[in-house]
Amino acid sequence: MKRRVYVFDTTLRDGEQAPGFSMRVSEKVRVAAQLEALGVDVIEAGFPIASAGEQEAVRRIAQQCQNASVAGLCRAKKEDIDAAWDALKYAKRPRFHIFLATSDIHLEYKLRMTREEAIHAAVSAVRYAKSFGAEVEFSPEDATRSEEGYLIRVLEAVIDAGADVVNIADTVGYAIPSEFARLIRLLRSEVRNAERARFSVHCHNDLGLAVANTLAGIEAGADQIECTINGIGERAGNAALEEVVMALKVRESVFSVETGIRTELIYPTSLLVQEITGVHVQPNKAVVGANAFAHEAGIHQHGVLAHAATYEIMTPESIGLTSNRIVLGKHSGRHAVRKALLDMGVRVDKEGLDFVYERMVALADEKKQVTQRDLLRIVDQLKREKSHTDAYQSVSETAEAGS
Ligand SMILES: [Zn+2]
Repeated sequence: MKRRVYVFDTTLRDGEQAPGFSMRVSEKVRVAAQLEALGVDVIEAGFPIASAGEQEAVRRIAQQCQNASVAGLCRAKKEDIDAAWDALKYAKRPRFHIFLATSDIHLEYKLRMTREEAIHAAVSAVRYAKSFGAEVEFSPEDATRSEEGYLIRVLEAVIDAGADVVNIADTVGYAIPSEFARLIRLLRSEVRNAERARFSVHCHNDLGLAVANTLAGIEAGADQIECTINGIGERAGNAALEEVVMALKVRESVFSVETGIRTELIYPTSLLVQEITGVHVQPNKAVVGANAFAHEAGIHQHGVLAHAATYEIMTPESIGLTSNRIVLGKHSGRHAVRKALLDMGVRVDKEGLDFVYERMVALADEKKQVTQRDLLRIVDQLKREKSHTDAYQSVSETAEAGS
């Protein structure tokens, strides 16, 4: 039997807090619905004490989520935990996510705390959060630059205080895969009460290693991975959910783990986050980039047509993109356009349908056949040119509306 790895998505917290990626409350709620449809296990919805907007977003997402746990970020402070509970108490599965740095550089220069003071603050915060009866996750921030003996003591103390999950954070994207795997193995074997908590990994991409470190963490026994859609996040971003999940799937025989992700919703989810944030992934982005399944060289095209596996290690369909399938021609009507869009998880209103239809006909005149990818490009234009919000909705929202 395959080991289950839990997916903790922090698109709405670590992703959203990056400059240029902010989302309105209603947009966060839409993304959360899509994340739940995608099958993530935990949605980190925000940092409730940070602002009234964050508080509202976490509350609305907590009210809406049916299956996923909803997490709210807290410093190791009573007021943060109280503010988080005001929003999280509506969730079916609430989770506090408490963080406190454990590296000397953070303790000395940022927190101005001694190591003993930090352990005390972490334990008090975990104990207090646990008193609400919710799940508690504790993150030793900057864990990869923390002294190992001290990190082990902190983890033992917070697990004794009731932490359900401990999240080993490579906050500054400093680790390399072999070293990170060694750290996870060491913690799992040396932390005295390790079997009482789940181990999570949270990797940043400053050296382009977030996905590699996350996968190394899984091989070393991590039970939970923290990631974001399109890898958005602080600075160079977080581990990209779509890349980690597809690596686990394509190389299943190596990892022998499973997640709850419905991979065929990866592309619509990526697109929704691109649309909402207005930030598009680069064309050569792994898995979801516009060129990820494009075969330009003639010899490659010939190979793919003869047998897709010659140059494709995964199918476009497996991420919800049937890039090569011809969907429409110039004789297709509005009804067919609407249906083709719905098949891709995109709903348009009447005005949006007119827009897509007219451009589809023009394109079909030029190139005879219009593919799903062409349609997605048109939807992209629609979103950019029309500001009305109903033009584009995610598949889960369509389901929610009962249509
Ligand atoms: Zn982070």
